[in-house]
Amino acid sequence: MERDRKLRMAIAFASVAALSAFLAVHYHRRRRKQRSRGGGACYLRAESKPQHGFRRVLADNSYSPFKHLKLGGSDDVDSSNSHPYEAEITALLDSPRLESTFYPDDKIPMTSDVYTWVETEQQLEELANVLIKERVFAVDTEQHSLCSFLGFTALMQISTQDEDYLIDTIKLHDAMGILRPVFSEPSICKVFHGADNDVLWLQRDFHIYVVNLFDTAKACDILSKPQRSLAYLLETYCGVTTNKLLQREDWRQRPLPQDMLRYARTDACYLLYVARCLVGELKQKDNESCFDDELHFVLEACRRSNMICLQRYTKDIEAAPGESAASSIISRHSNGQGGESDAYKAQFQDIVRRVCAWRELMARVHDESLRFVLSDQAIVALASKVPTNPTDIFDILRQADSNTDALSSSMPSPSPVVCGHMDSFCDLLEERMDNLDEISLVVLQKCLGQDGTCPLSVFNYSILVNFTMRSTNKVVSRQNGTKSLKQVSRKASRELFVKKFSCKSPVYHNCRIYANDGRLLCYCDRRKLEWYLRRDLAKLVDNDPPAIMLLFEPKGRPEDEDNEFYIQRKKNICVGCGEGNHYLRYRIIPSCYRMHFPEHLKSHRSHDIVLLCVDCHEVAHAAAEKYKRKIAEEFGIPLFVRNIVELRDDQVASETCAMGINFEQAGISPLELRTAAMALLRHGQRMPQKRREELTQIVMRFYGGRDISDTDLERALLVGMSSHEKRRLEKKRGLSSKHSKGGGIPDKEQIGSTEKRLISSTVNPSKFETVDVSLSEKDQQYVNDEITDQVKTEPINSGMEPEAAAHDSNNENTDFYNLQNGNLQNEGSDLGDSRNDETQPMHNSKLSLLGHGPHGKQVVDHILKEYGEDGISVFCQRWRQVFIEALKPRFLPAGWDIKHSGRRDFGEFSVCNPIKKALADAKS
Ligand code: AMP
Ligand code: MN
Ligand code: ZN
Repeated sequence: MERDRKLRMAIAFASVAALSAFLAVHYHRRRRKQRSRGGGACYLRAESKPQHGFRRVLADNSYSPFKHLKLGGSDDVDSSNSHPYEAEITALLDSPRLESTFYPDDKIPMTSDVYTWVETEQQLEELANVLIKERVFAVDTEQHSLCSFLGFTALMQISTQDEDYLIDTIKLHDAMGILRPVFSEPSICKVFHGADNDVLWLQRDFHIYVVNLFDTAKACDILSKPQRSLAYLLETYCGVTTNKLLQREDWRQRPLPQDMLRYARTDACYLLYVARCLVGELKQKDNESCFDDELHFVLEACRRSNMICLQRYTKDIEAAPGESAASSIISRHSNGQGGESDAYKAQFQDIVRRVCAWRELMARVHDESLRFVLSDQAIVALASKVPTNPTDIFDILRQADSNTDALSSSMPSPSPVVCGHMDSFCDLLEERMDNLDEISLVVLQKCLGQDGTCPLSVFNYSILVNFTMRSTNKVVSRQNGTKSLKQVSRKASRELFVKKFSCKSPVYHNCRIYANDGRLLCYCDRRKLEWYLRRDLAKLVDNDPPAIMLLFEPKGRPEDEDNEFYIQRKKNICVGCGEGNHYLRYRIIPSCYRMHFPEHLKSHRSHDIVLLCVDCHEVAHAAAEKYKRKIAEEFGIPLFVRNIVELRDDQVASETCAMGINFEQAGISPLELRTAAMALLRHGQRMPQKRREELTQIVMRFYGGRDISDTDLERALLVGMSSHEKRRLEKKRGLSSKHSKGGGIPDKEQIGSTEKRLISSTVNPSKFETVDVSLSEKDQQYVNDEITDQVKTEPINSGMEPEAAAHDSNNENTDFYNLQNGNLQNEGSDLGDSRNDETQPMHNSKLSLLGHGPHGKQVVDHILKEYGEDGISVFCQRWRQVFIEALKPRFLPAGWDIKHSGRRDFGEFSVCNPIKKALADAKS
């Protein structure tokens, strides 16, 4: 045995050394190669990981919060994100259900070699059927955390009184939901030892929630046992010894070695017996004590156990990537060191921070643990010696890691992450990246951006959307801190604009959706495939690029629409000039109109949203704005609320004035008003007097020229919002003011987050527009750190919309967006996901002409009333015409057509089906 172990260790050492040597040579070779071709090669291009087979990943590596299971089948956004079984668990806290027969007899369970390995869905179903009939069963899980950022459950052990089951939770990752009901069933007791982590891991990976737990470790606490480890209990009650070192083995291995199988079973199969012994002792204690309630100690054990179940899994989110790890390394290091110069210390800390940020981002991108990417001791060594060339870096890392204990040295050093991205690592150490935000941005763009070095996966996909927008904002605001945007040259600001607003990854993934008879339905993006897969509405039929086949009969076929537009690959280029390096989405039909179209006419989003480069975007946007003014004149419906709308004291009106004014001058845009008011509220004190006066003038104009108070400013924030949005804002501010010290003027944070919410938290994407906030260049100096982006890493919807290819209902559509959004509550993604087409180059000193919601509504209502739905169709064609004339686009996809019909054959069950709708309306 001992010899075995030594042998294994020797082999491990030898292979590490060999691997390191190999990597060293390999690296230098590749480095040379890379220089010559100027690109990097990520190890993941050639290597697959077990988790790449997971289709349903509940906790990805993005910064978005974890979303808990929602019960009741309602797809409404549950913003509380609360524990789905809180009520059931709380009920158990009040009146525990005590399991009296954990284990039937006094005999210690026999260890036989018989156990059931569960690795198919059918076997899992069978197990669920067995468990639902049990009154109690024991559970344990084994995790893998080295080659995964958040870790994942690699094995689950379940033991009943009669049988041991080992579940291959890697193979069955997507099917584990089958066990959800037994775990949440309050009448079935689940016995764990030390369930704190397991409970969270089960939520994280499978949305499995434990209800009715008996934790033998909690029983130990109450009994004041000398130790509370499972090893101690196993020895004391069962005379069994277990090698806890095995818990750190690689549980992804298949088949699992004999000793690990035995260890895993041992962790679960004695638990029922141990629980029986402990409950016996608790009852004993109750008998001896003089508490009123008969089962005081037993019930306390149950209560404390179920308290564990109330925990909710959350992702750790820090202020800046790697921040907490950096602080901990720095404080540990400074404890041991003294007598260094301040300059040295500052440099040391700076490098630690930068490297920690890099490490964390790389770990998220590659789905590896931090320690796998780079060990803490390696970071200290780097920060102490400050190497700049790859050879030195390589030697320092290898040396730092060679000093550590045998178990962790089974990791390659330097890791393939470092080796595969040595160029970016050198840049980092040579301080070619300025600050943490820039590091994040550059790293993410290099790895996952267009032409990124690393593969996109379900683990890292949404980091881009969630993170780049946020950090770009910070970069922008910092620059503004030192020099005003005016000083930034036009070229630089254009570049910034491109960087900030262009799509961060290819828009068209050209994934395919097939009907169940094999006919190609459409091309679409990856997330849409995910959407179907997660709901078991489709199966994956191809991998690269992915394709799915729907498991139900879609109601529409492309030929029904007589349009080849939807069944072709789309290029990720500007449709105007063919530019392929950057592009942003452009909506041909301005959202202020489209948002008011009847639901069933809104469907041709992918036809009427095209990619444009910044230059073409500007041209098209300007033409559209001009045409809006023409429409305003033609229909006699002004674009803005009129000048003076102060009516009664308790009311802020935003009514529009119909006729008889010069439309160009017809008012202050609600946006302009709100922006001015916000800037004054937030930064009024700090602003140069001149600017303050200018802004005050704007607001005063709205109030008919009278002096204005802070209350007026606050009310001005509400102008142009729908009542729904107002309620939201008021609710939000009601909440924040509870926490604010002074009351009165909302502070910066509050307004900042309020505004972000306004943009992001409306579920229906078509309703986003009216609440956008844009600022003039000047005001960006004051309000720019929380400026809300109008742009536009909009979720990608490049094929037919979900309801086009599938069963259509508004809910599905909404759900699709929720999914794409990933996290409506997350500020990072808020910035990324706000859906507005109007983009506004930053050097344009005119205020954005957003906020045409009321105008749009009146126009659409008018058209519908006068000309019906055909009128809408003609209206759309006019906008397409405007677009074509302004831009003369040369790269529109085949099948794109000014006359593109908005009409579609709606399925029998479709909520969009006009006949059905009419019938339903008639009934109600
Ligand atoms: P256990 O149920 O005690 O075998 O632990 C369950 C899982 O927790 C293991 O599969 C490990 O992934 C993890 N774990 C527990 N303790 C440690 C430890 N000391 N070091 C590393 N991993 C641990
Ligand atoms: Mn275990
Ligand atoms: Zn990579």
